[in-house]
Amino acid sequence: MNKNCKAVWESCLSVIKDNINHQSYKTWFEPIKAVKLENNILTIQVPSQFFYEWLEEHYITLLKKTVKKELGSEGRLEYSIIMENSYNNGPPFTIKFPTSNKKATGNPFVNMPIDLNRGSSKEIPNPFIIPGLRKIKVNSQLNENYSFENFIEGDCNRLARSAGYAVAGNPGKTAFNPLLLYSNVGLGKTHLAHAIGLEVKNNFPEKTVLYVTSEQFANQFIDAVRNNSKNDFVHFYQMIDVLIIDDIQFLLKKEKTQEIYFHIFNHLHQNSKQLIITSDKPPVEMEGMNARLLSRFKWGLSADLQVPDLETRIAIINKKLYKDGVEMPKEVIEYLAYSIVTNVREMEGALISILAQSSLNKKAITLELAKKMIDKFVKNTSREISIDYIQKVVCDYFGLPLEAIHSKTRKREIVQARQLAMYFSKRMTKASLATIGQHCGKKDHATVLHACRTVNNLIDTDKQFRNYVEELDKKITL
Ligand code: ADP
Ligand code: MG
Repeated sequence: MNKNCKAVWESCLSVIKDNINHQSYKTWFEPIKAVKLENNILTIQVPSQFFYEWLEEHYITLLKKTVKKELGSEGRLEYSIIMENSYNNGPPFTIKFPTSNKKATGNPFVNMPIDLNRGSSKEIPNPFIIPGLRKIKVNSQLNENYSFENFIEGDCNRLARSAGYAVAGNPGKTAFNPLLLYSNVGLGKTHLAHAIGLEVKNNFPEKTVLYVTSEQFANQFIDAVRNNSKNDFVHFYQMIDVLIIDDIQFLLKKEKTQEIYFHIFNHLHQNSKQLIITSDKPPVEMEGMNARLLSRFKWGLSADLQVPDLETRIAIINKKLYKDGVEMPKEVIEYLAYSIVTNVREMEGALISILAQSSLNKKAITLELAKKMIDKFVKNTSREISIDYIQKVVCDYFGLPLEAIHSKTRKREIVQARQLAMYFSKRMTKASLATIGQHCGKKDHATVLHACRTVNNLIDTDKQFRNYVEELDKKITL
C-alpha cells in the first residue's frame, strides 16, 4: 500500500490528540511537520534538539504505538531536527528512532492509559480476567513520575500526604480506610494517589495495586454487562489489594455503577484491603451519591489538598526543572509562582510553554519572555497583579529583603518602600485599604491612606522620587 506521509501523520495526530491534553498537543505536536515516508519509515521534522528530547522523554510510548498502528509492526519513526546553529546551512540532520529503548518516564498529562482502539471496531481486550488462574498479573497503571519523591510537601497538603504515606506503609491496616483525597482541580490528588500506589509496590512487591479513573471503571462495567461478564468484573476487582479510584465524582448519579462499586468496596474493606478515592468535592457535597456508599466514605479519613503557598509553588517548579535538567533564571521562576496561584497544573503548563517558546524561537528564557507567555496563558482572566508581587518588585528595586516590608522598622528607606508597596497595591489591585494594610506589616487602613497621600505628594514635588515611581510602575506592569 502506498501511503502518503502527510495522511499517515494526520491519522497519528488524531489519536495523539485524544490522548493528551489540548495545551500539550498544541505545544508539542502542532509544530511538527511530516516530511517523508519511505520503507515504512515516517520522518517528522521537529523545530529543535530540545523539542526532540522532550518528545523522546515524554511521548515516546504514545508515538511508537500510534506509528505502529498506522504502519504496522514494522513501522518506524525518524526525526529530522532543524539545526540550532544558523551558520550551518546544511540539510537538517536526522536521528534514527528508536534511539532509546528506555521506558518512557510517562507524560504527566496522560492520566488515561492509551486506548488505541478507540473509535475502531476492534474488540478492546478484556482487561480483567484470565479464567482459571488464581494469581494474575494486573497492570497497575501507575505513573512512575507521580512519586512521593516528586511530590512537594507544604502546609497545603501535609495531612493528606502523611496519611497517604502511612497508608502506603501499612495498606488496609490503618484507620485511614478508605482514604479519600479531595480538592479543586490541579492540586495534586492524582499525583498523590499514584504516589501511594507506587510506594505500596515498593514496600510490598507482592501486593496487587490498581489505579483506575472512575470513568474507566464505569466503562469497564458497561462492557461487562454487555458481554455478560459482570461476575468476572466483580471478581477481578475483589482480588485487588489496593484499589485506587480517581475522580469518583464521575460516578455521581450513575446508580448501577455505584452499586457495583459499593459491593466491591464492602468485600475489600471486610478483607482489610485498602481503598483510596479521590474527588473534586468533600463527601458532604456529593449529591447523587448513594447514601450507603457515602456513609462508607466517612469510615476512614477525608483529607483535602489546598492551594500551595508561594514557597511550595516555587519548590514545585524547581523540582520539575531539576527533573527535566533545565535551568531557568530565578526571577522567572518567582514570577511564574507569583502569577499563577490557584492551580499547579496550570503553573506547569505555563512553565512548559515558556520552555517550548524559548526553544522554538531559540531565545534565552528571560523575564520578558516569561511575562508574555504567562499573559497569554491567563489571558481570559487578565493576569491579576497581587500585593505579594508588588512587594517583591519594590523590595528588589531597592535591594531590600522582603521581610523588611512586614517588619515594624521605621527606617526611612523601609518606610518609603512600604508606602510605595501600599500605593501600588491600592492602584493596581482590587484589595481594600484594610487588606493592603494587613499585608504590609499589619497596618490599619488609615496608614494605607496616609501612605497613598504621601506618595502622591512626593510625586508632585520630588523629581527623583517620581523617577522611582515611573520605573516601578513599568516593572510591575510589564
Ligand atoms: P488533580 O488530580 O488534583 O487535578 P494532579 O495530581 O493531576 O491534580 O496535579 C496536577 C499537576 O500538578 C501534576 O503534574 C502534579 O505532578 C503537579 N503537582 C500538584 N501538586 C504537587 C506537589 N505538591 N508537588 C509536585 N507536583 C505537584
Ligand atoms: Mg486528577
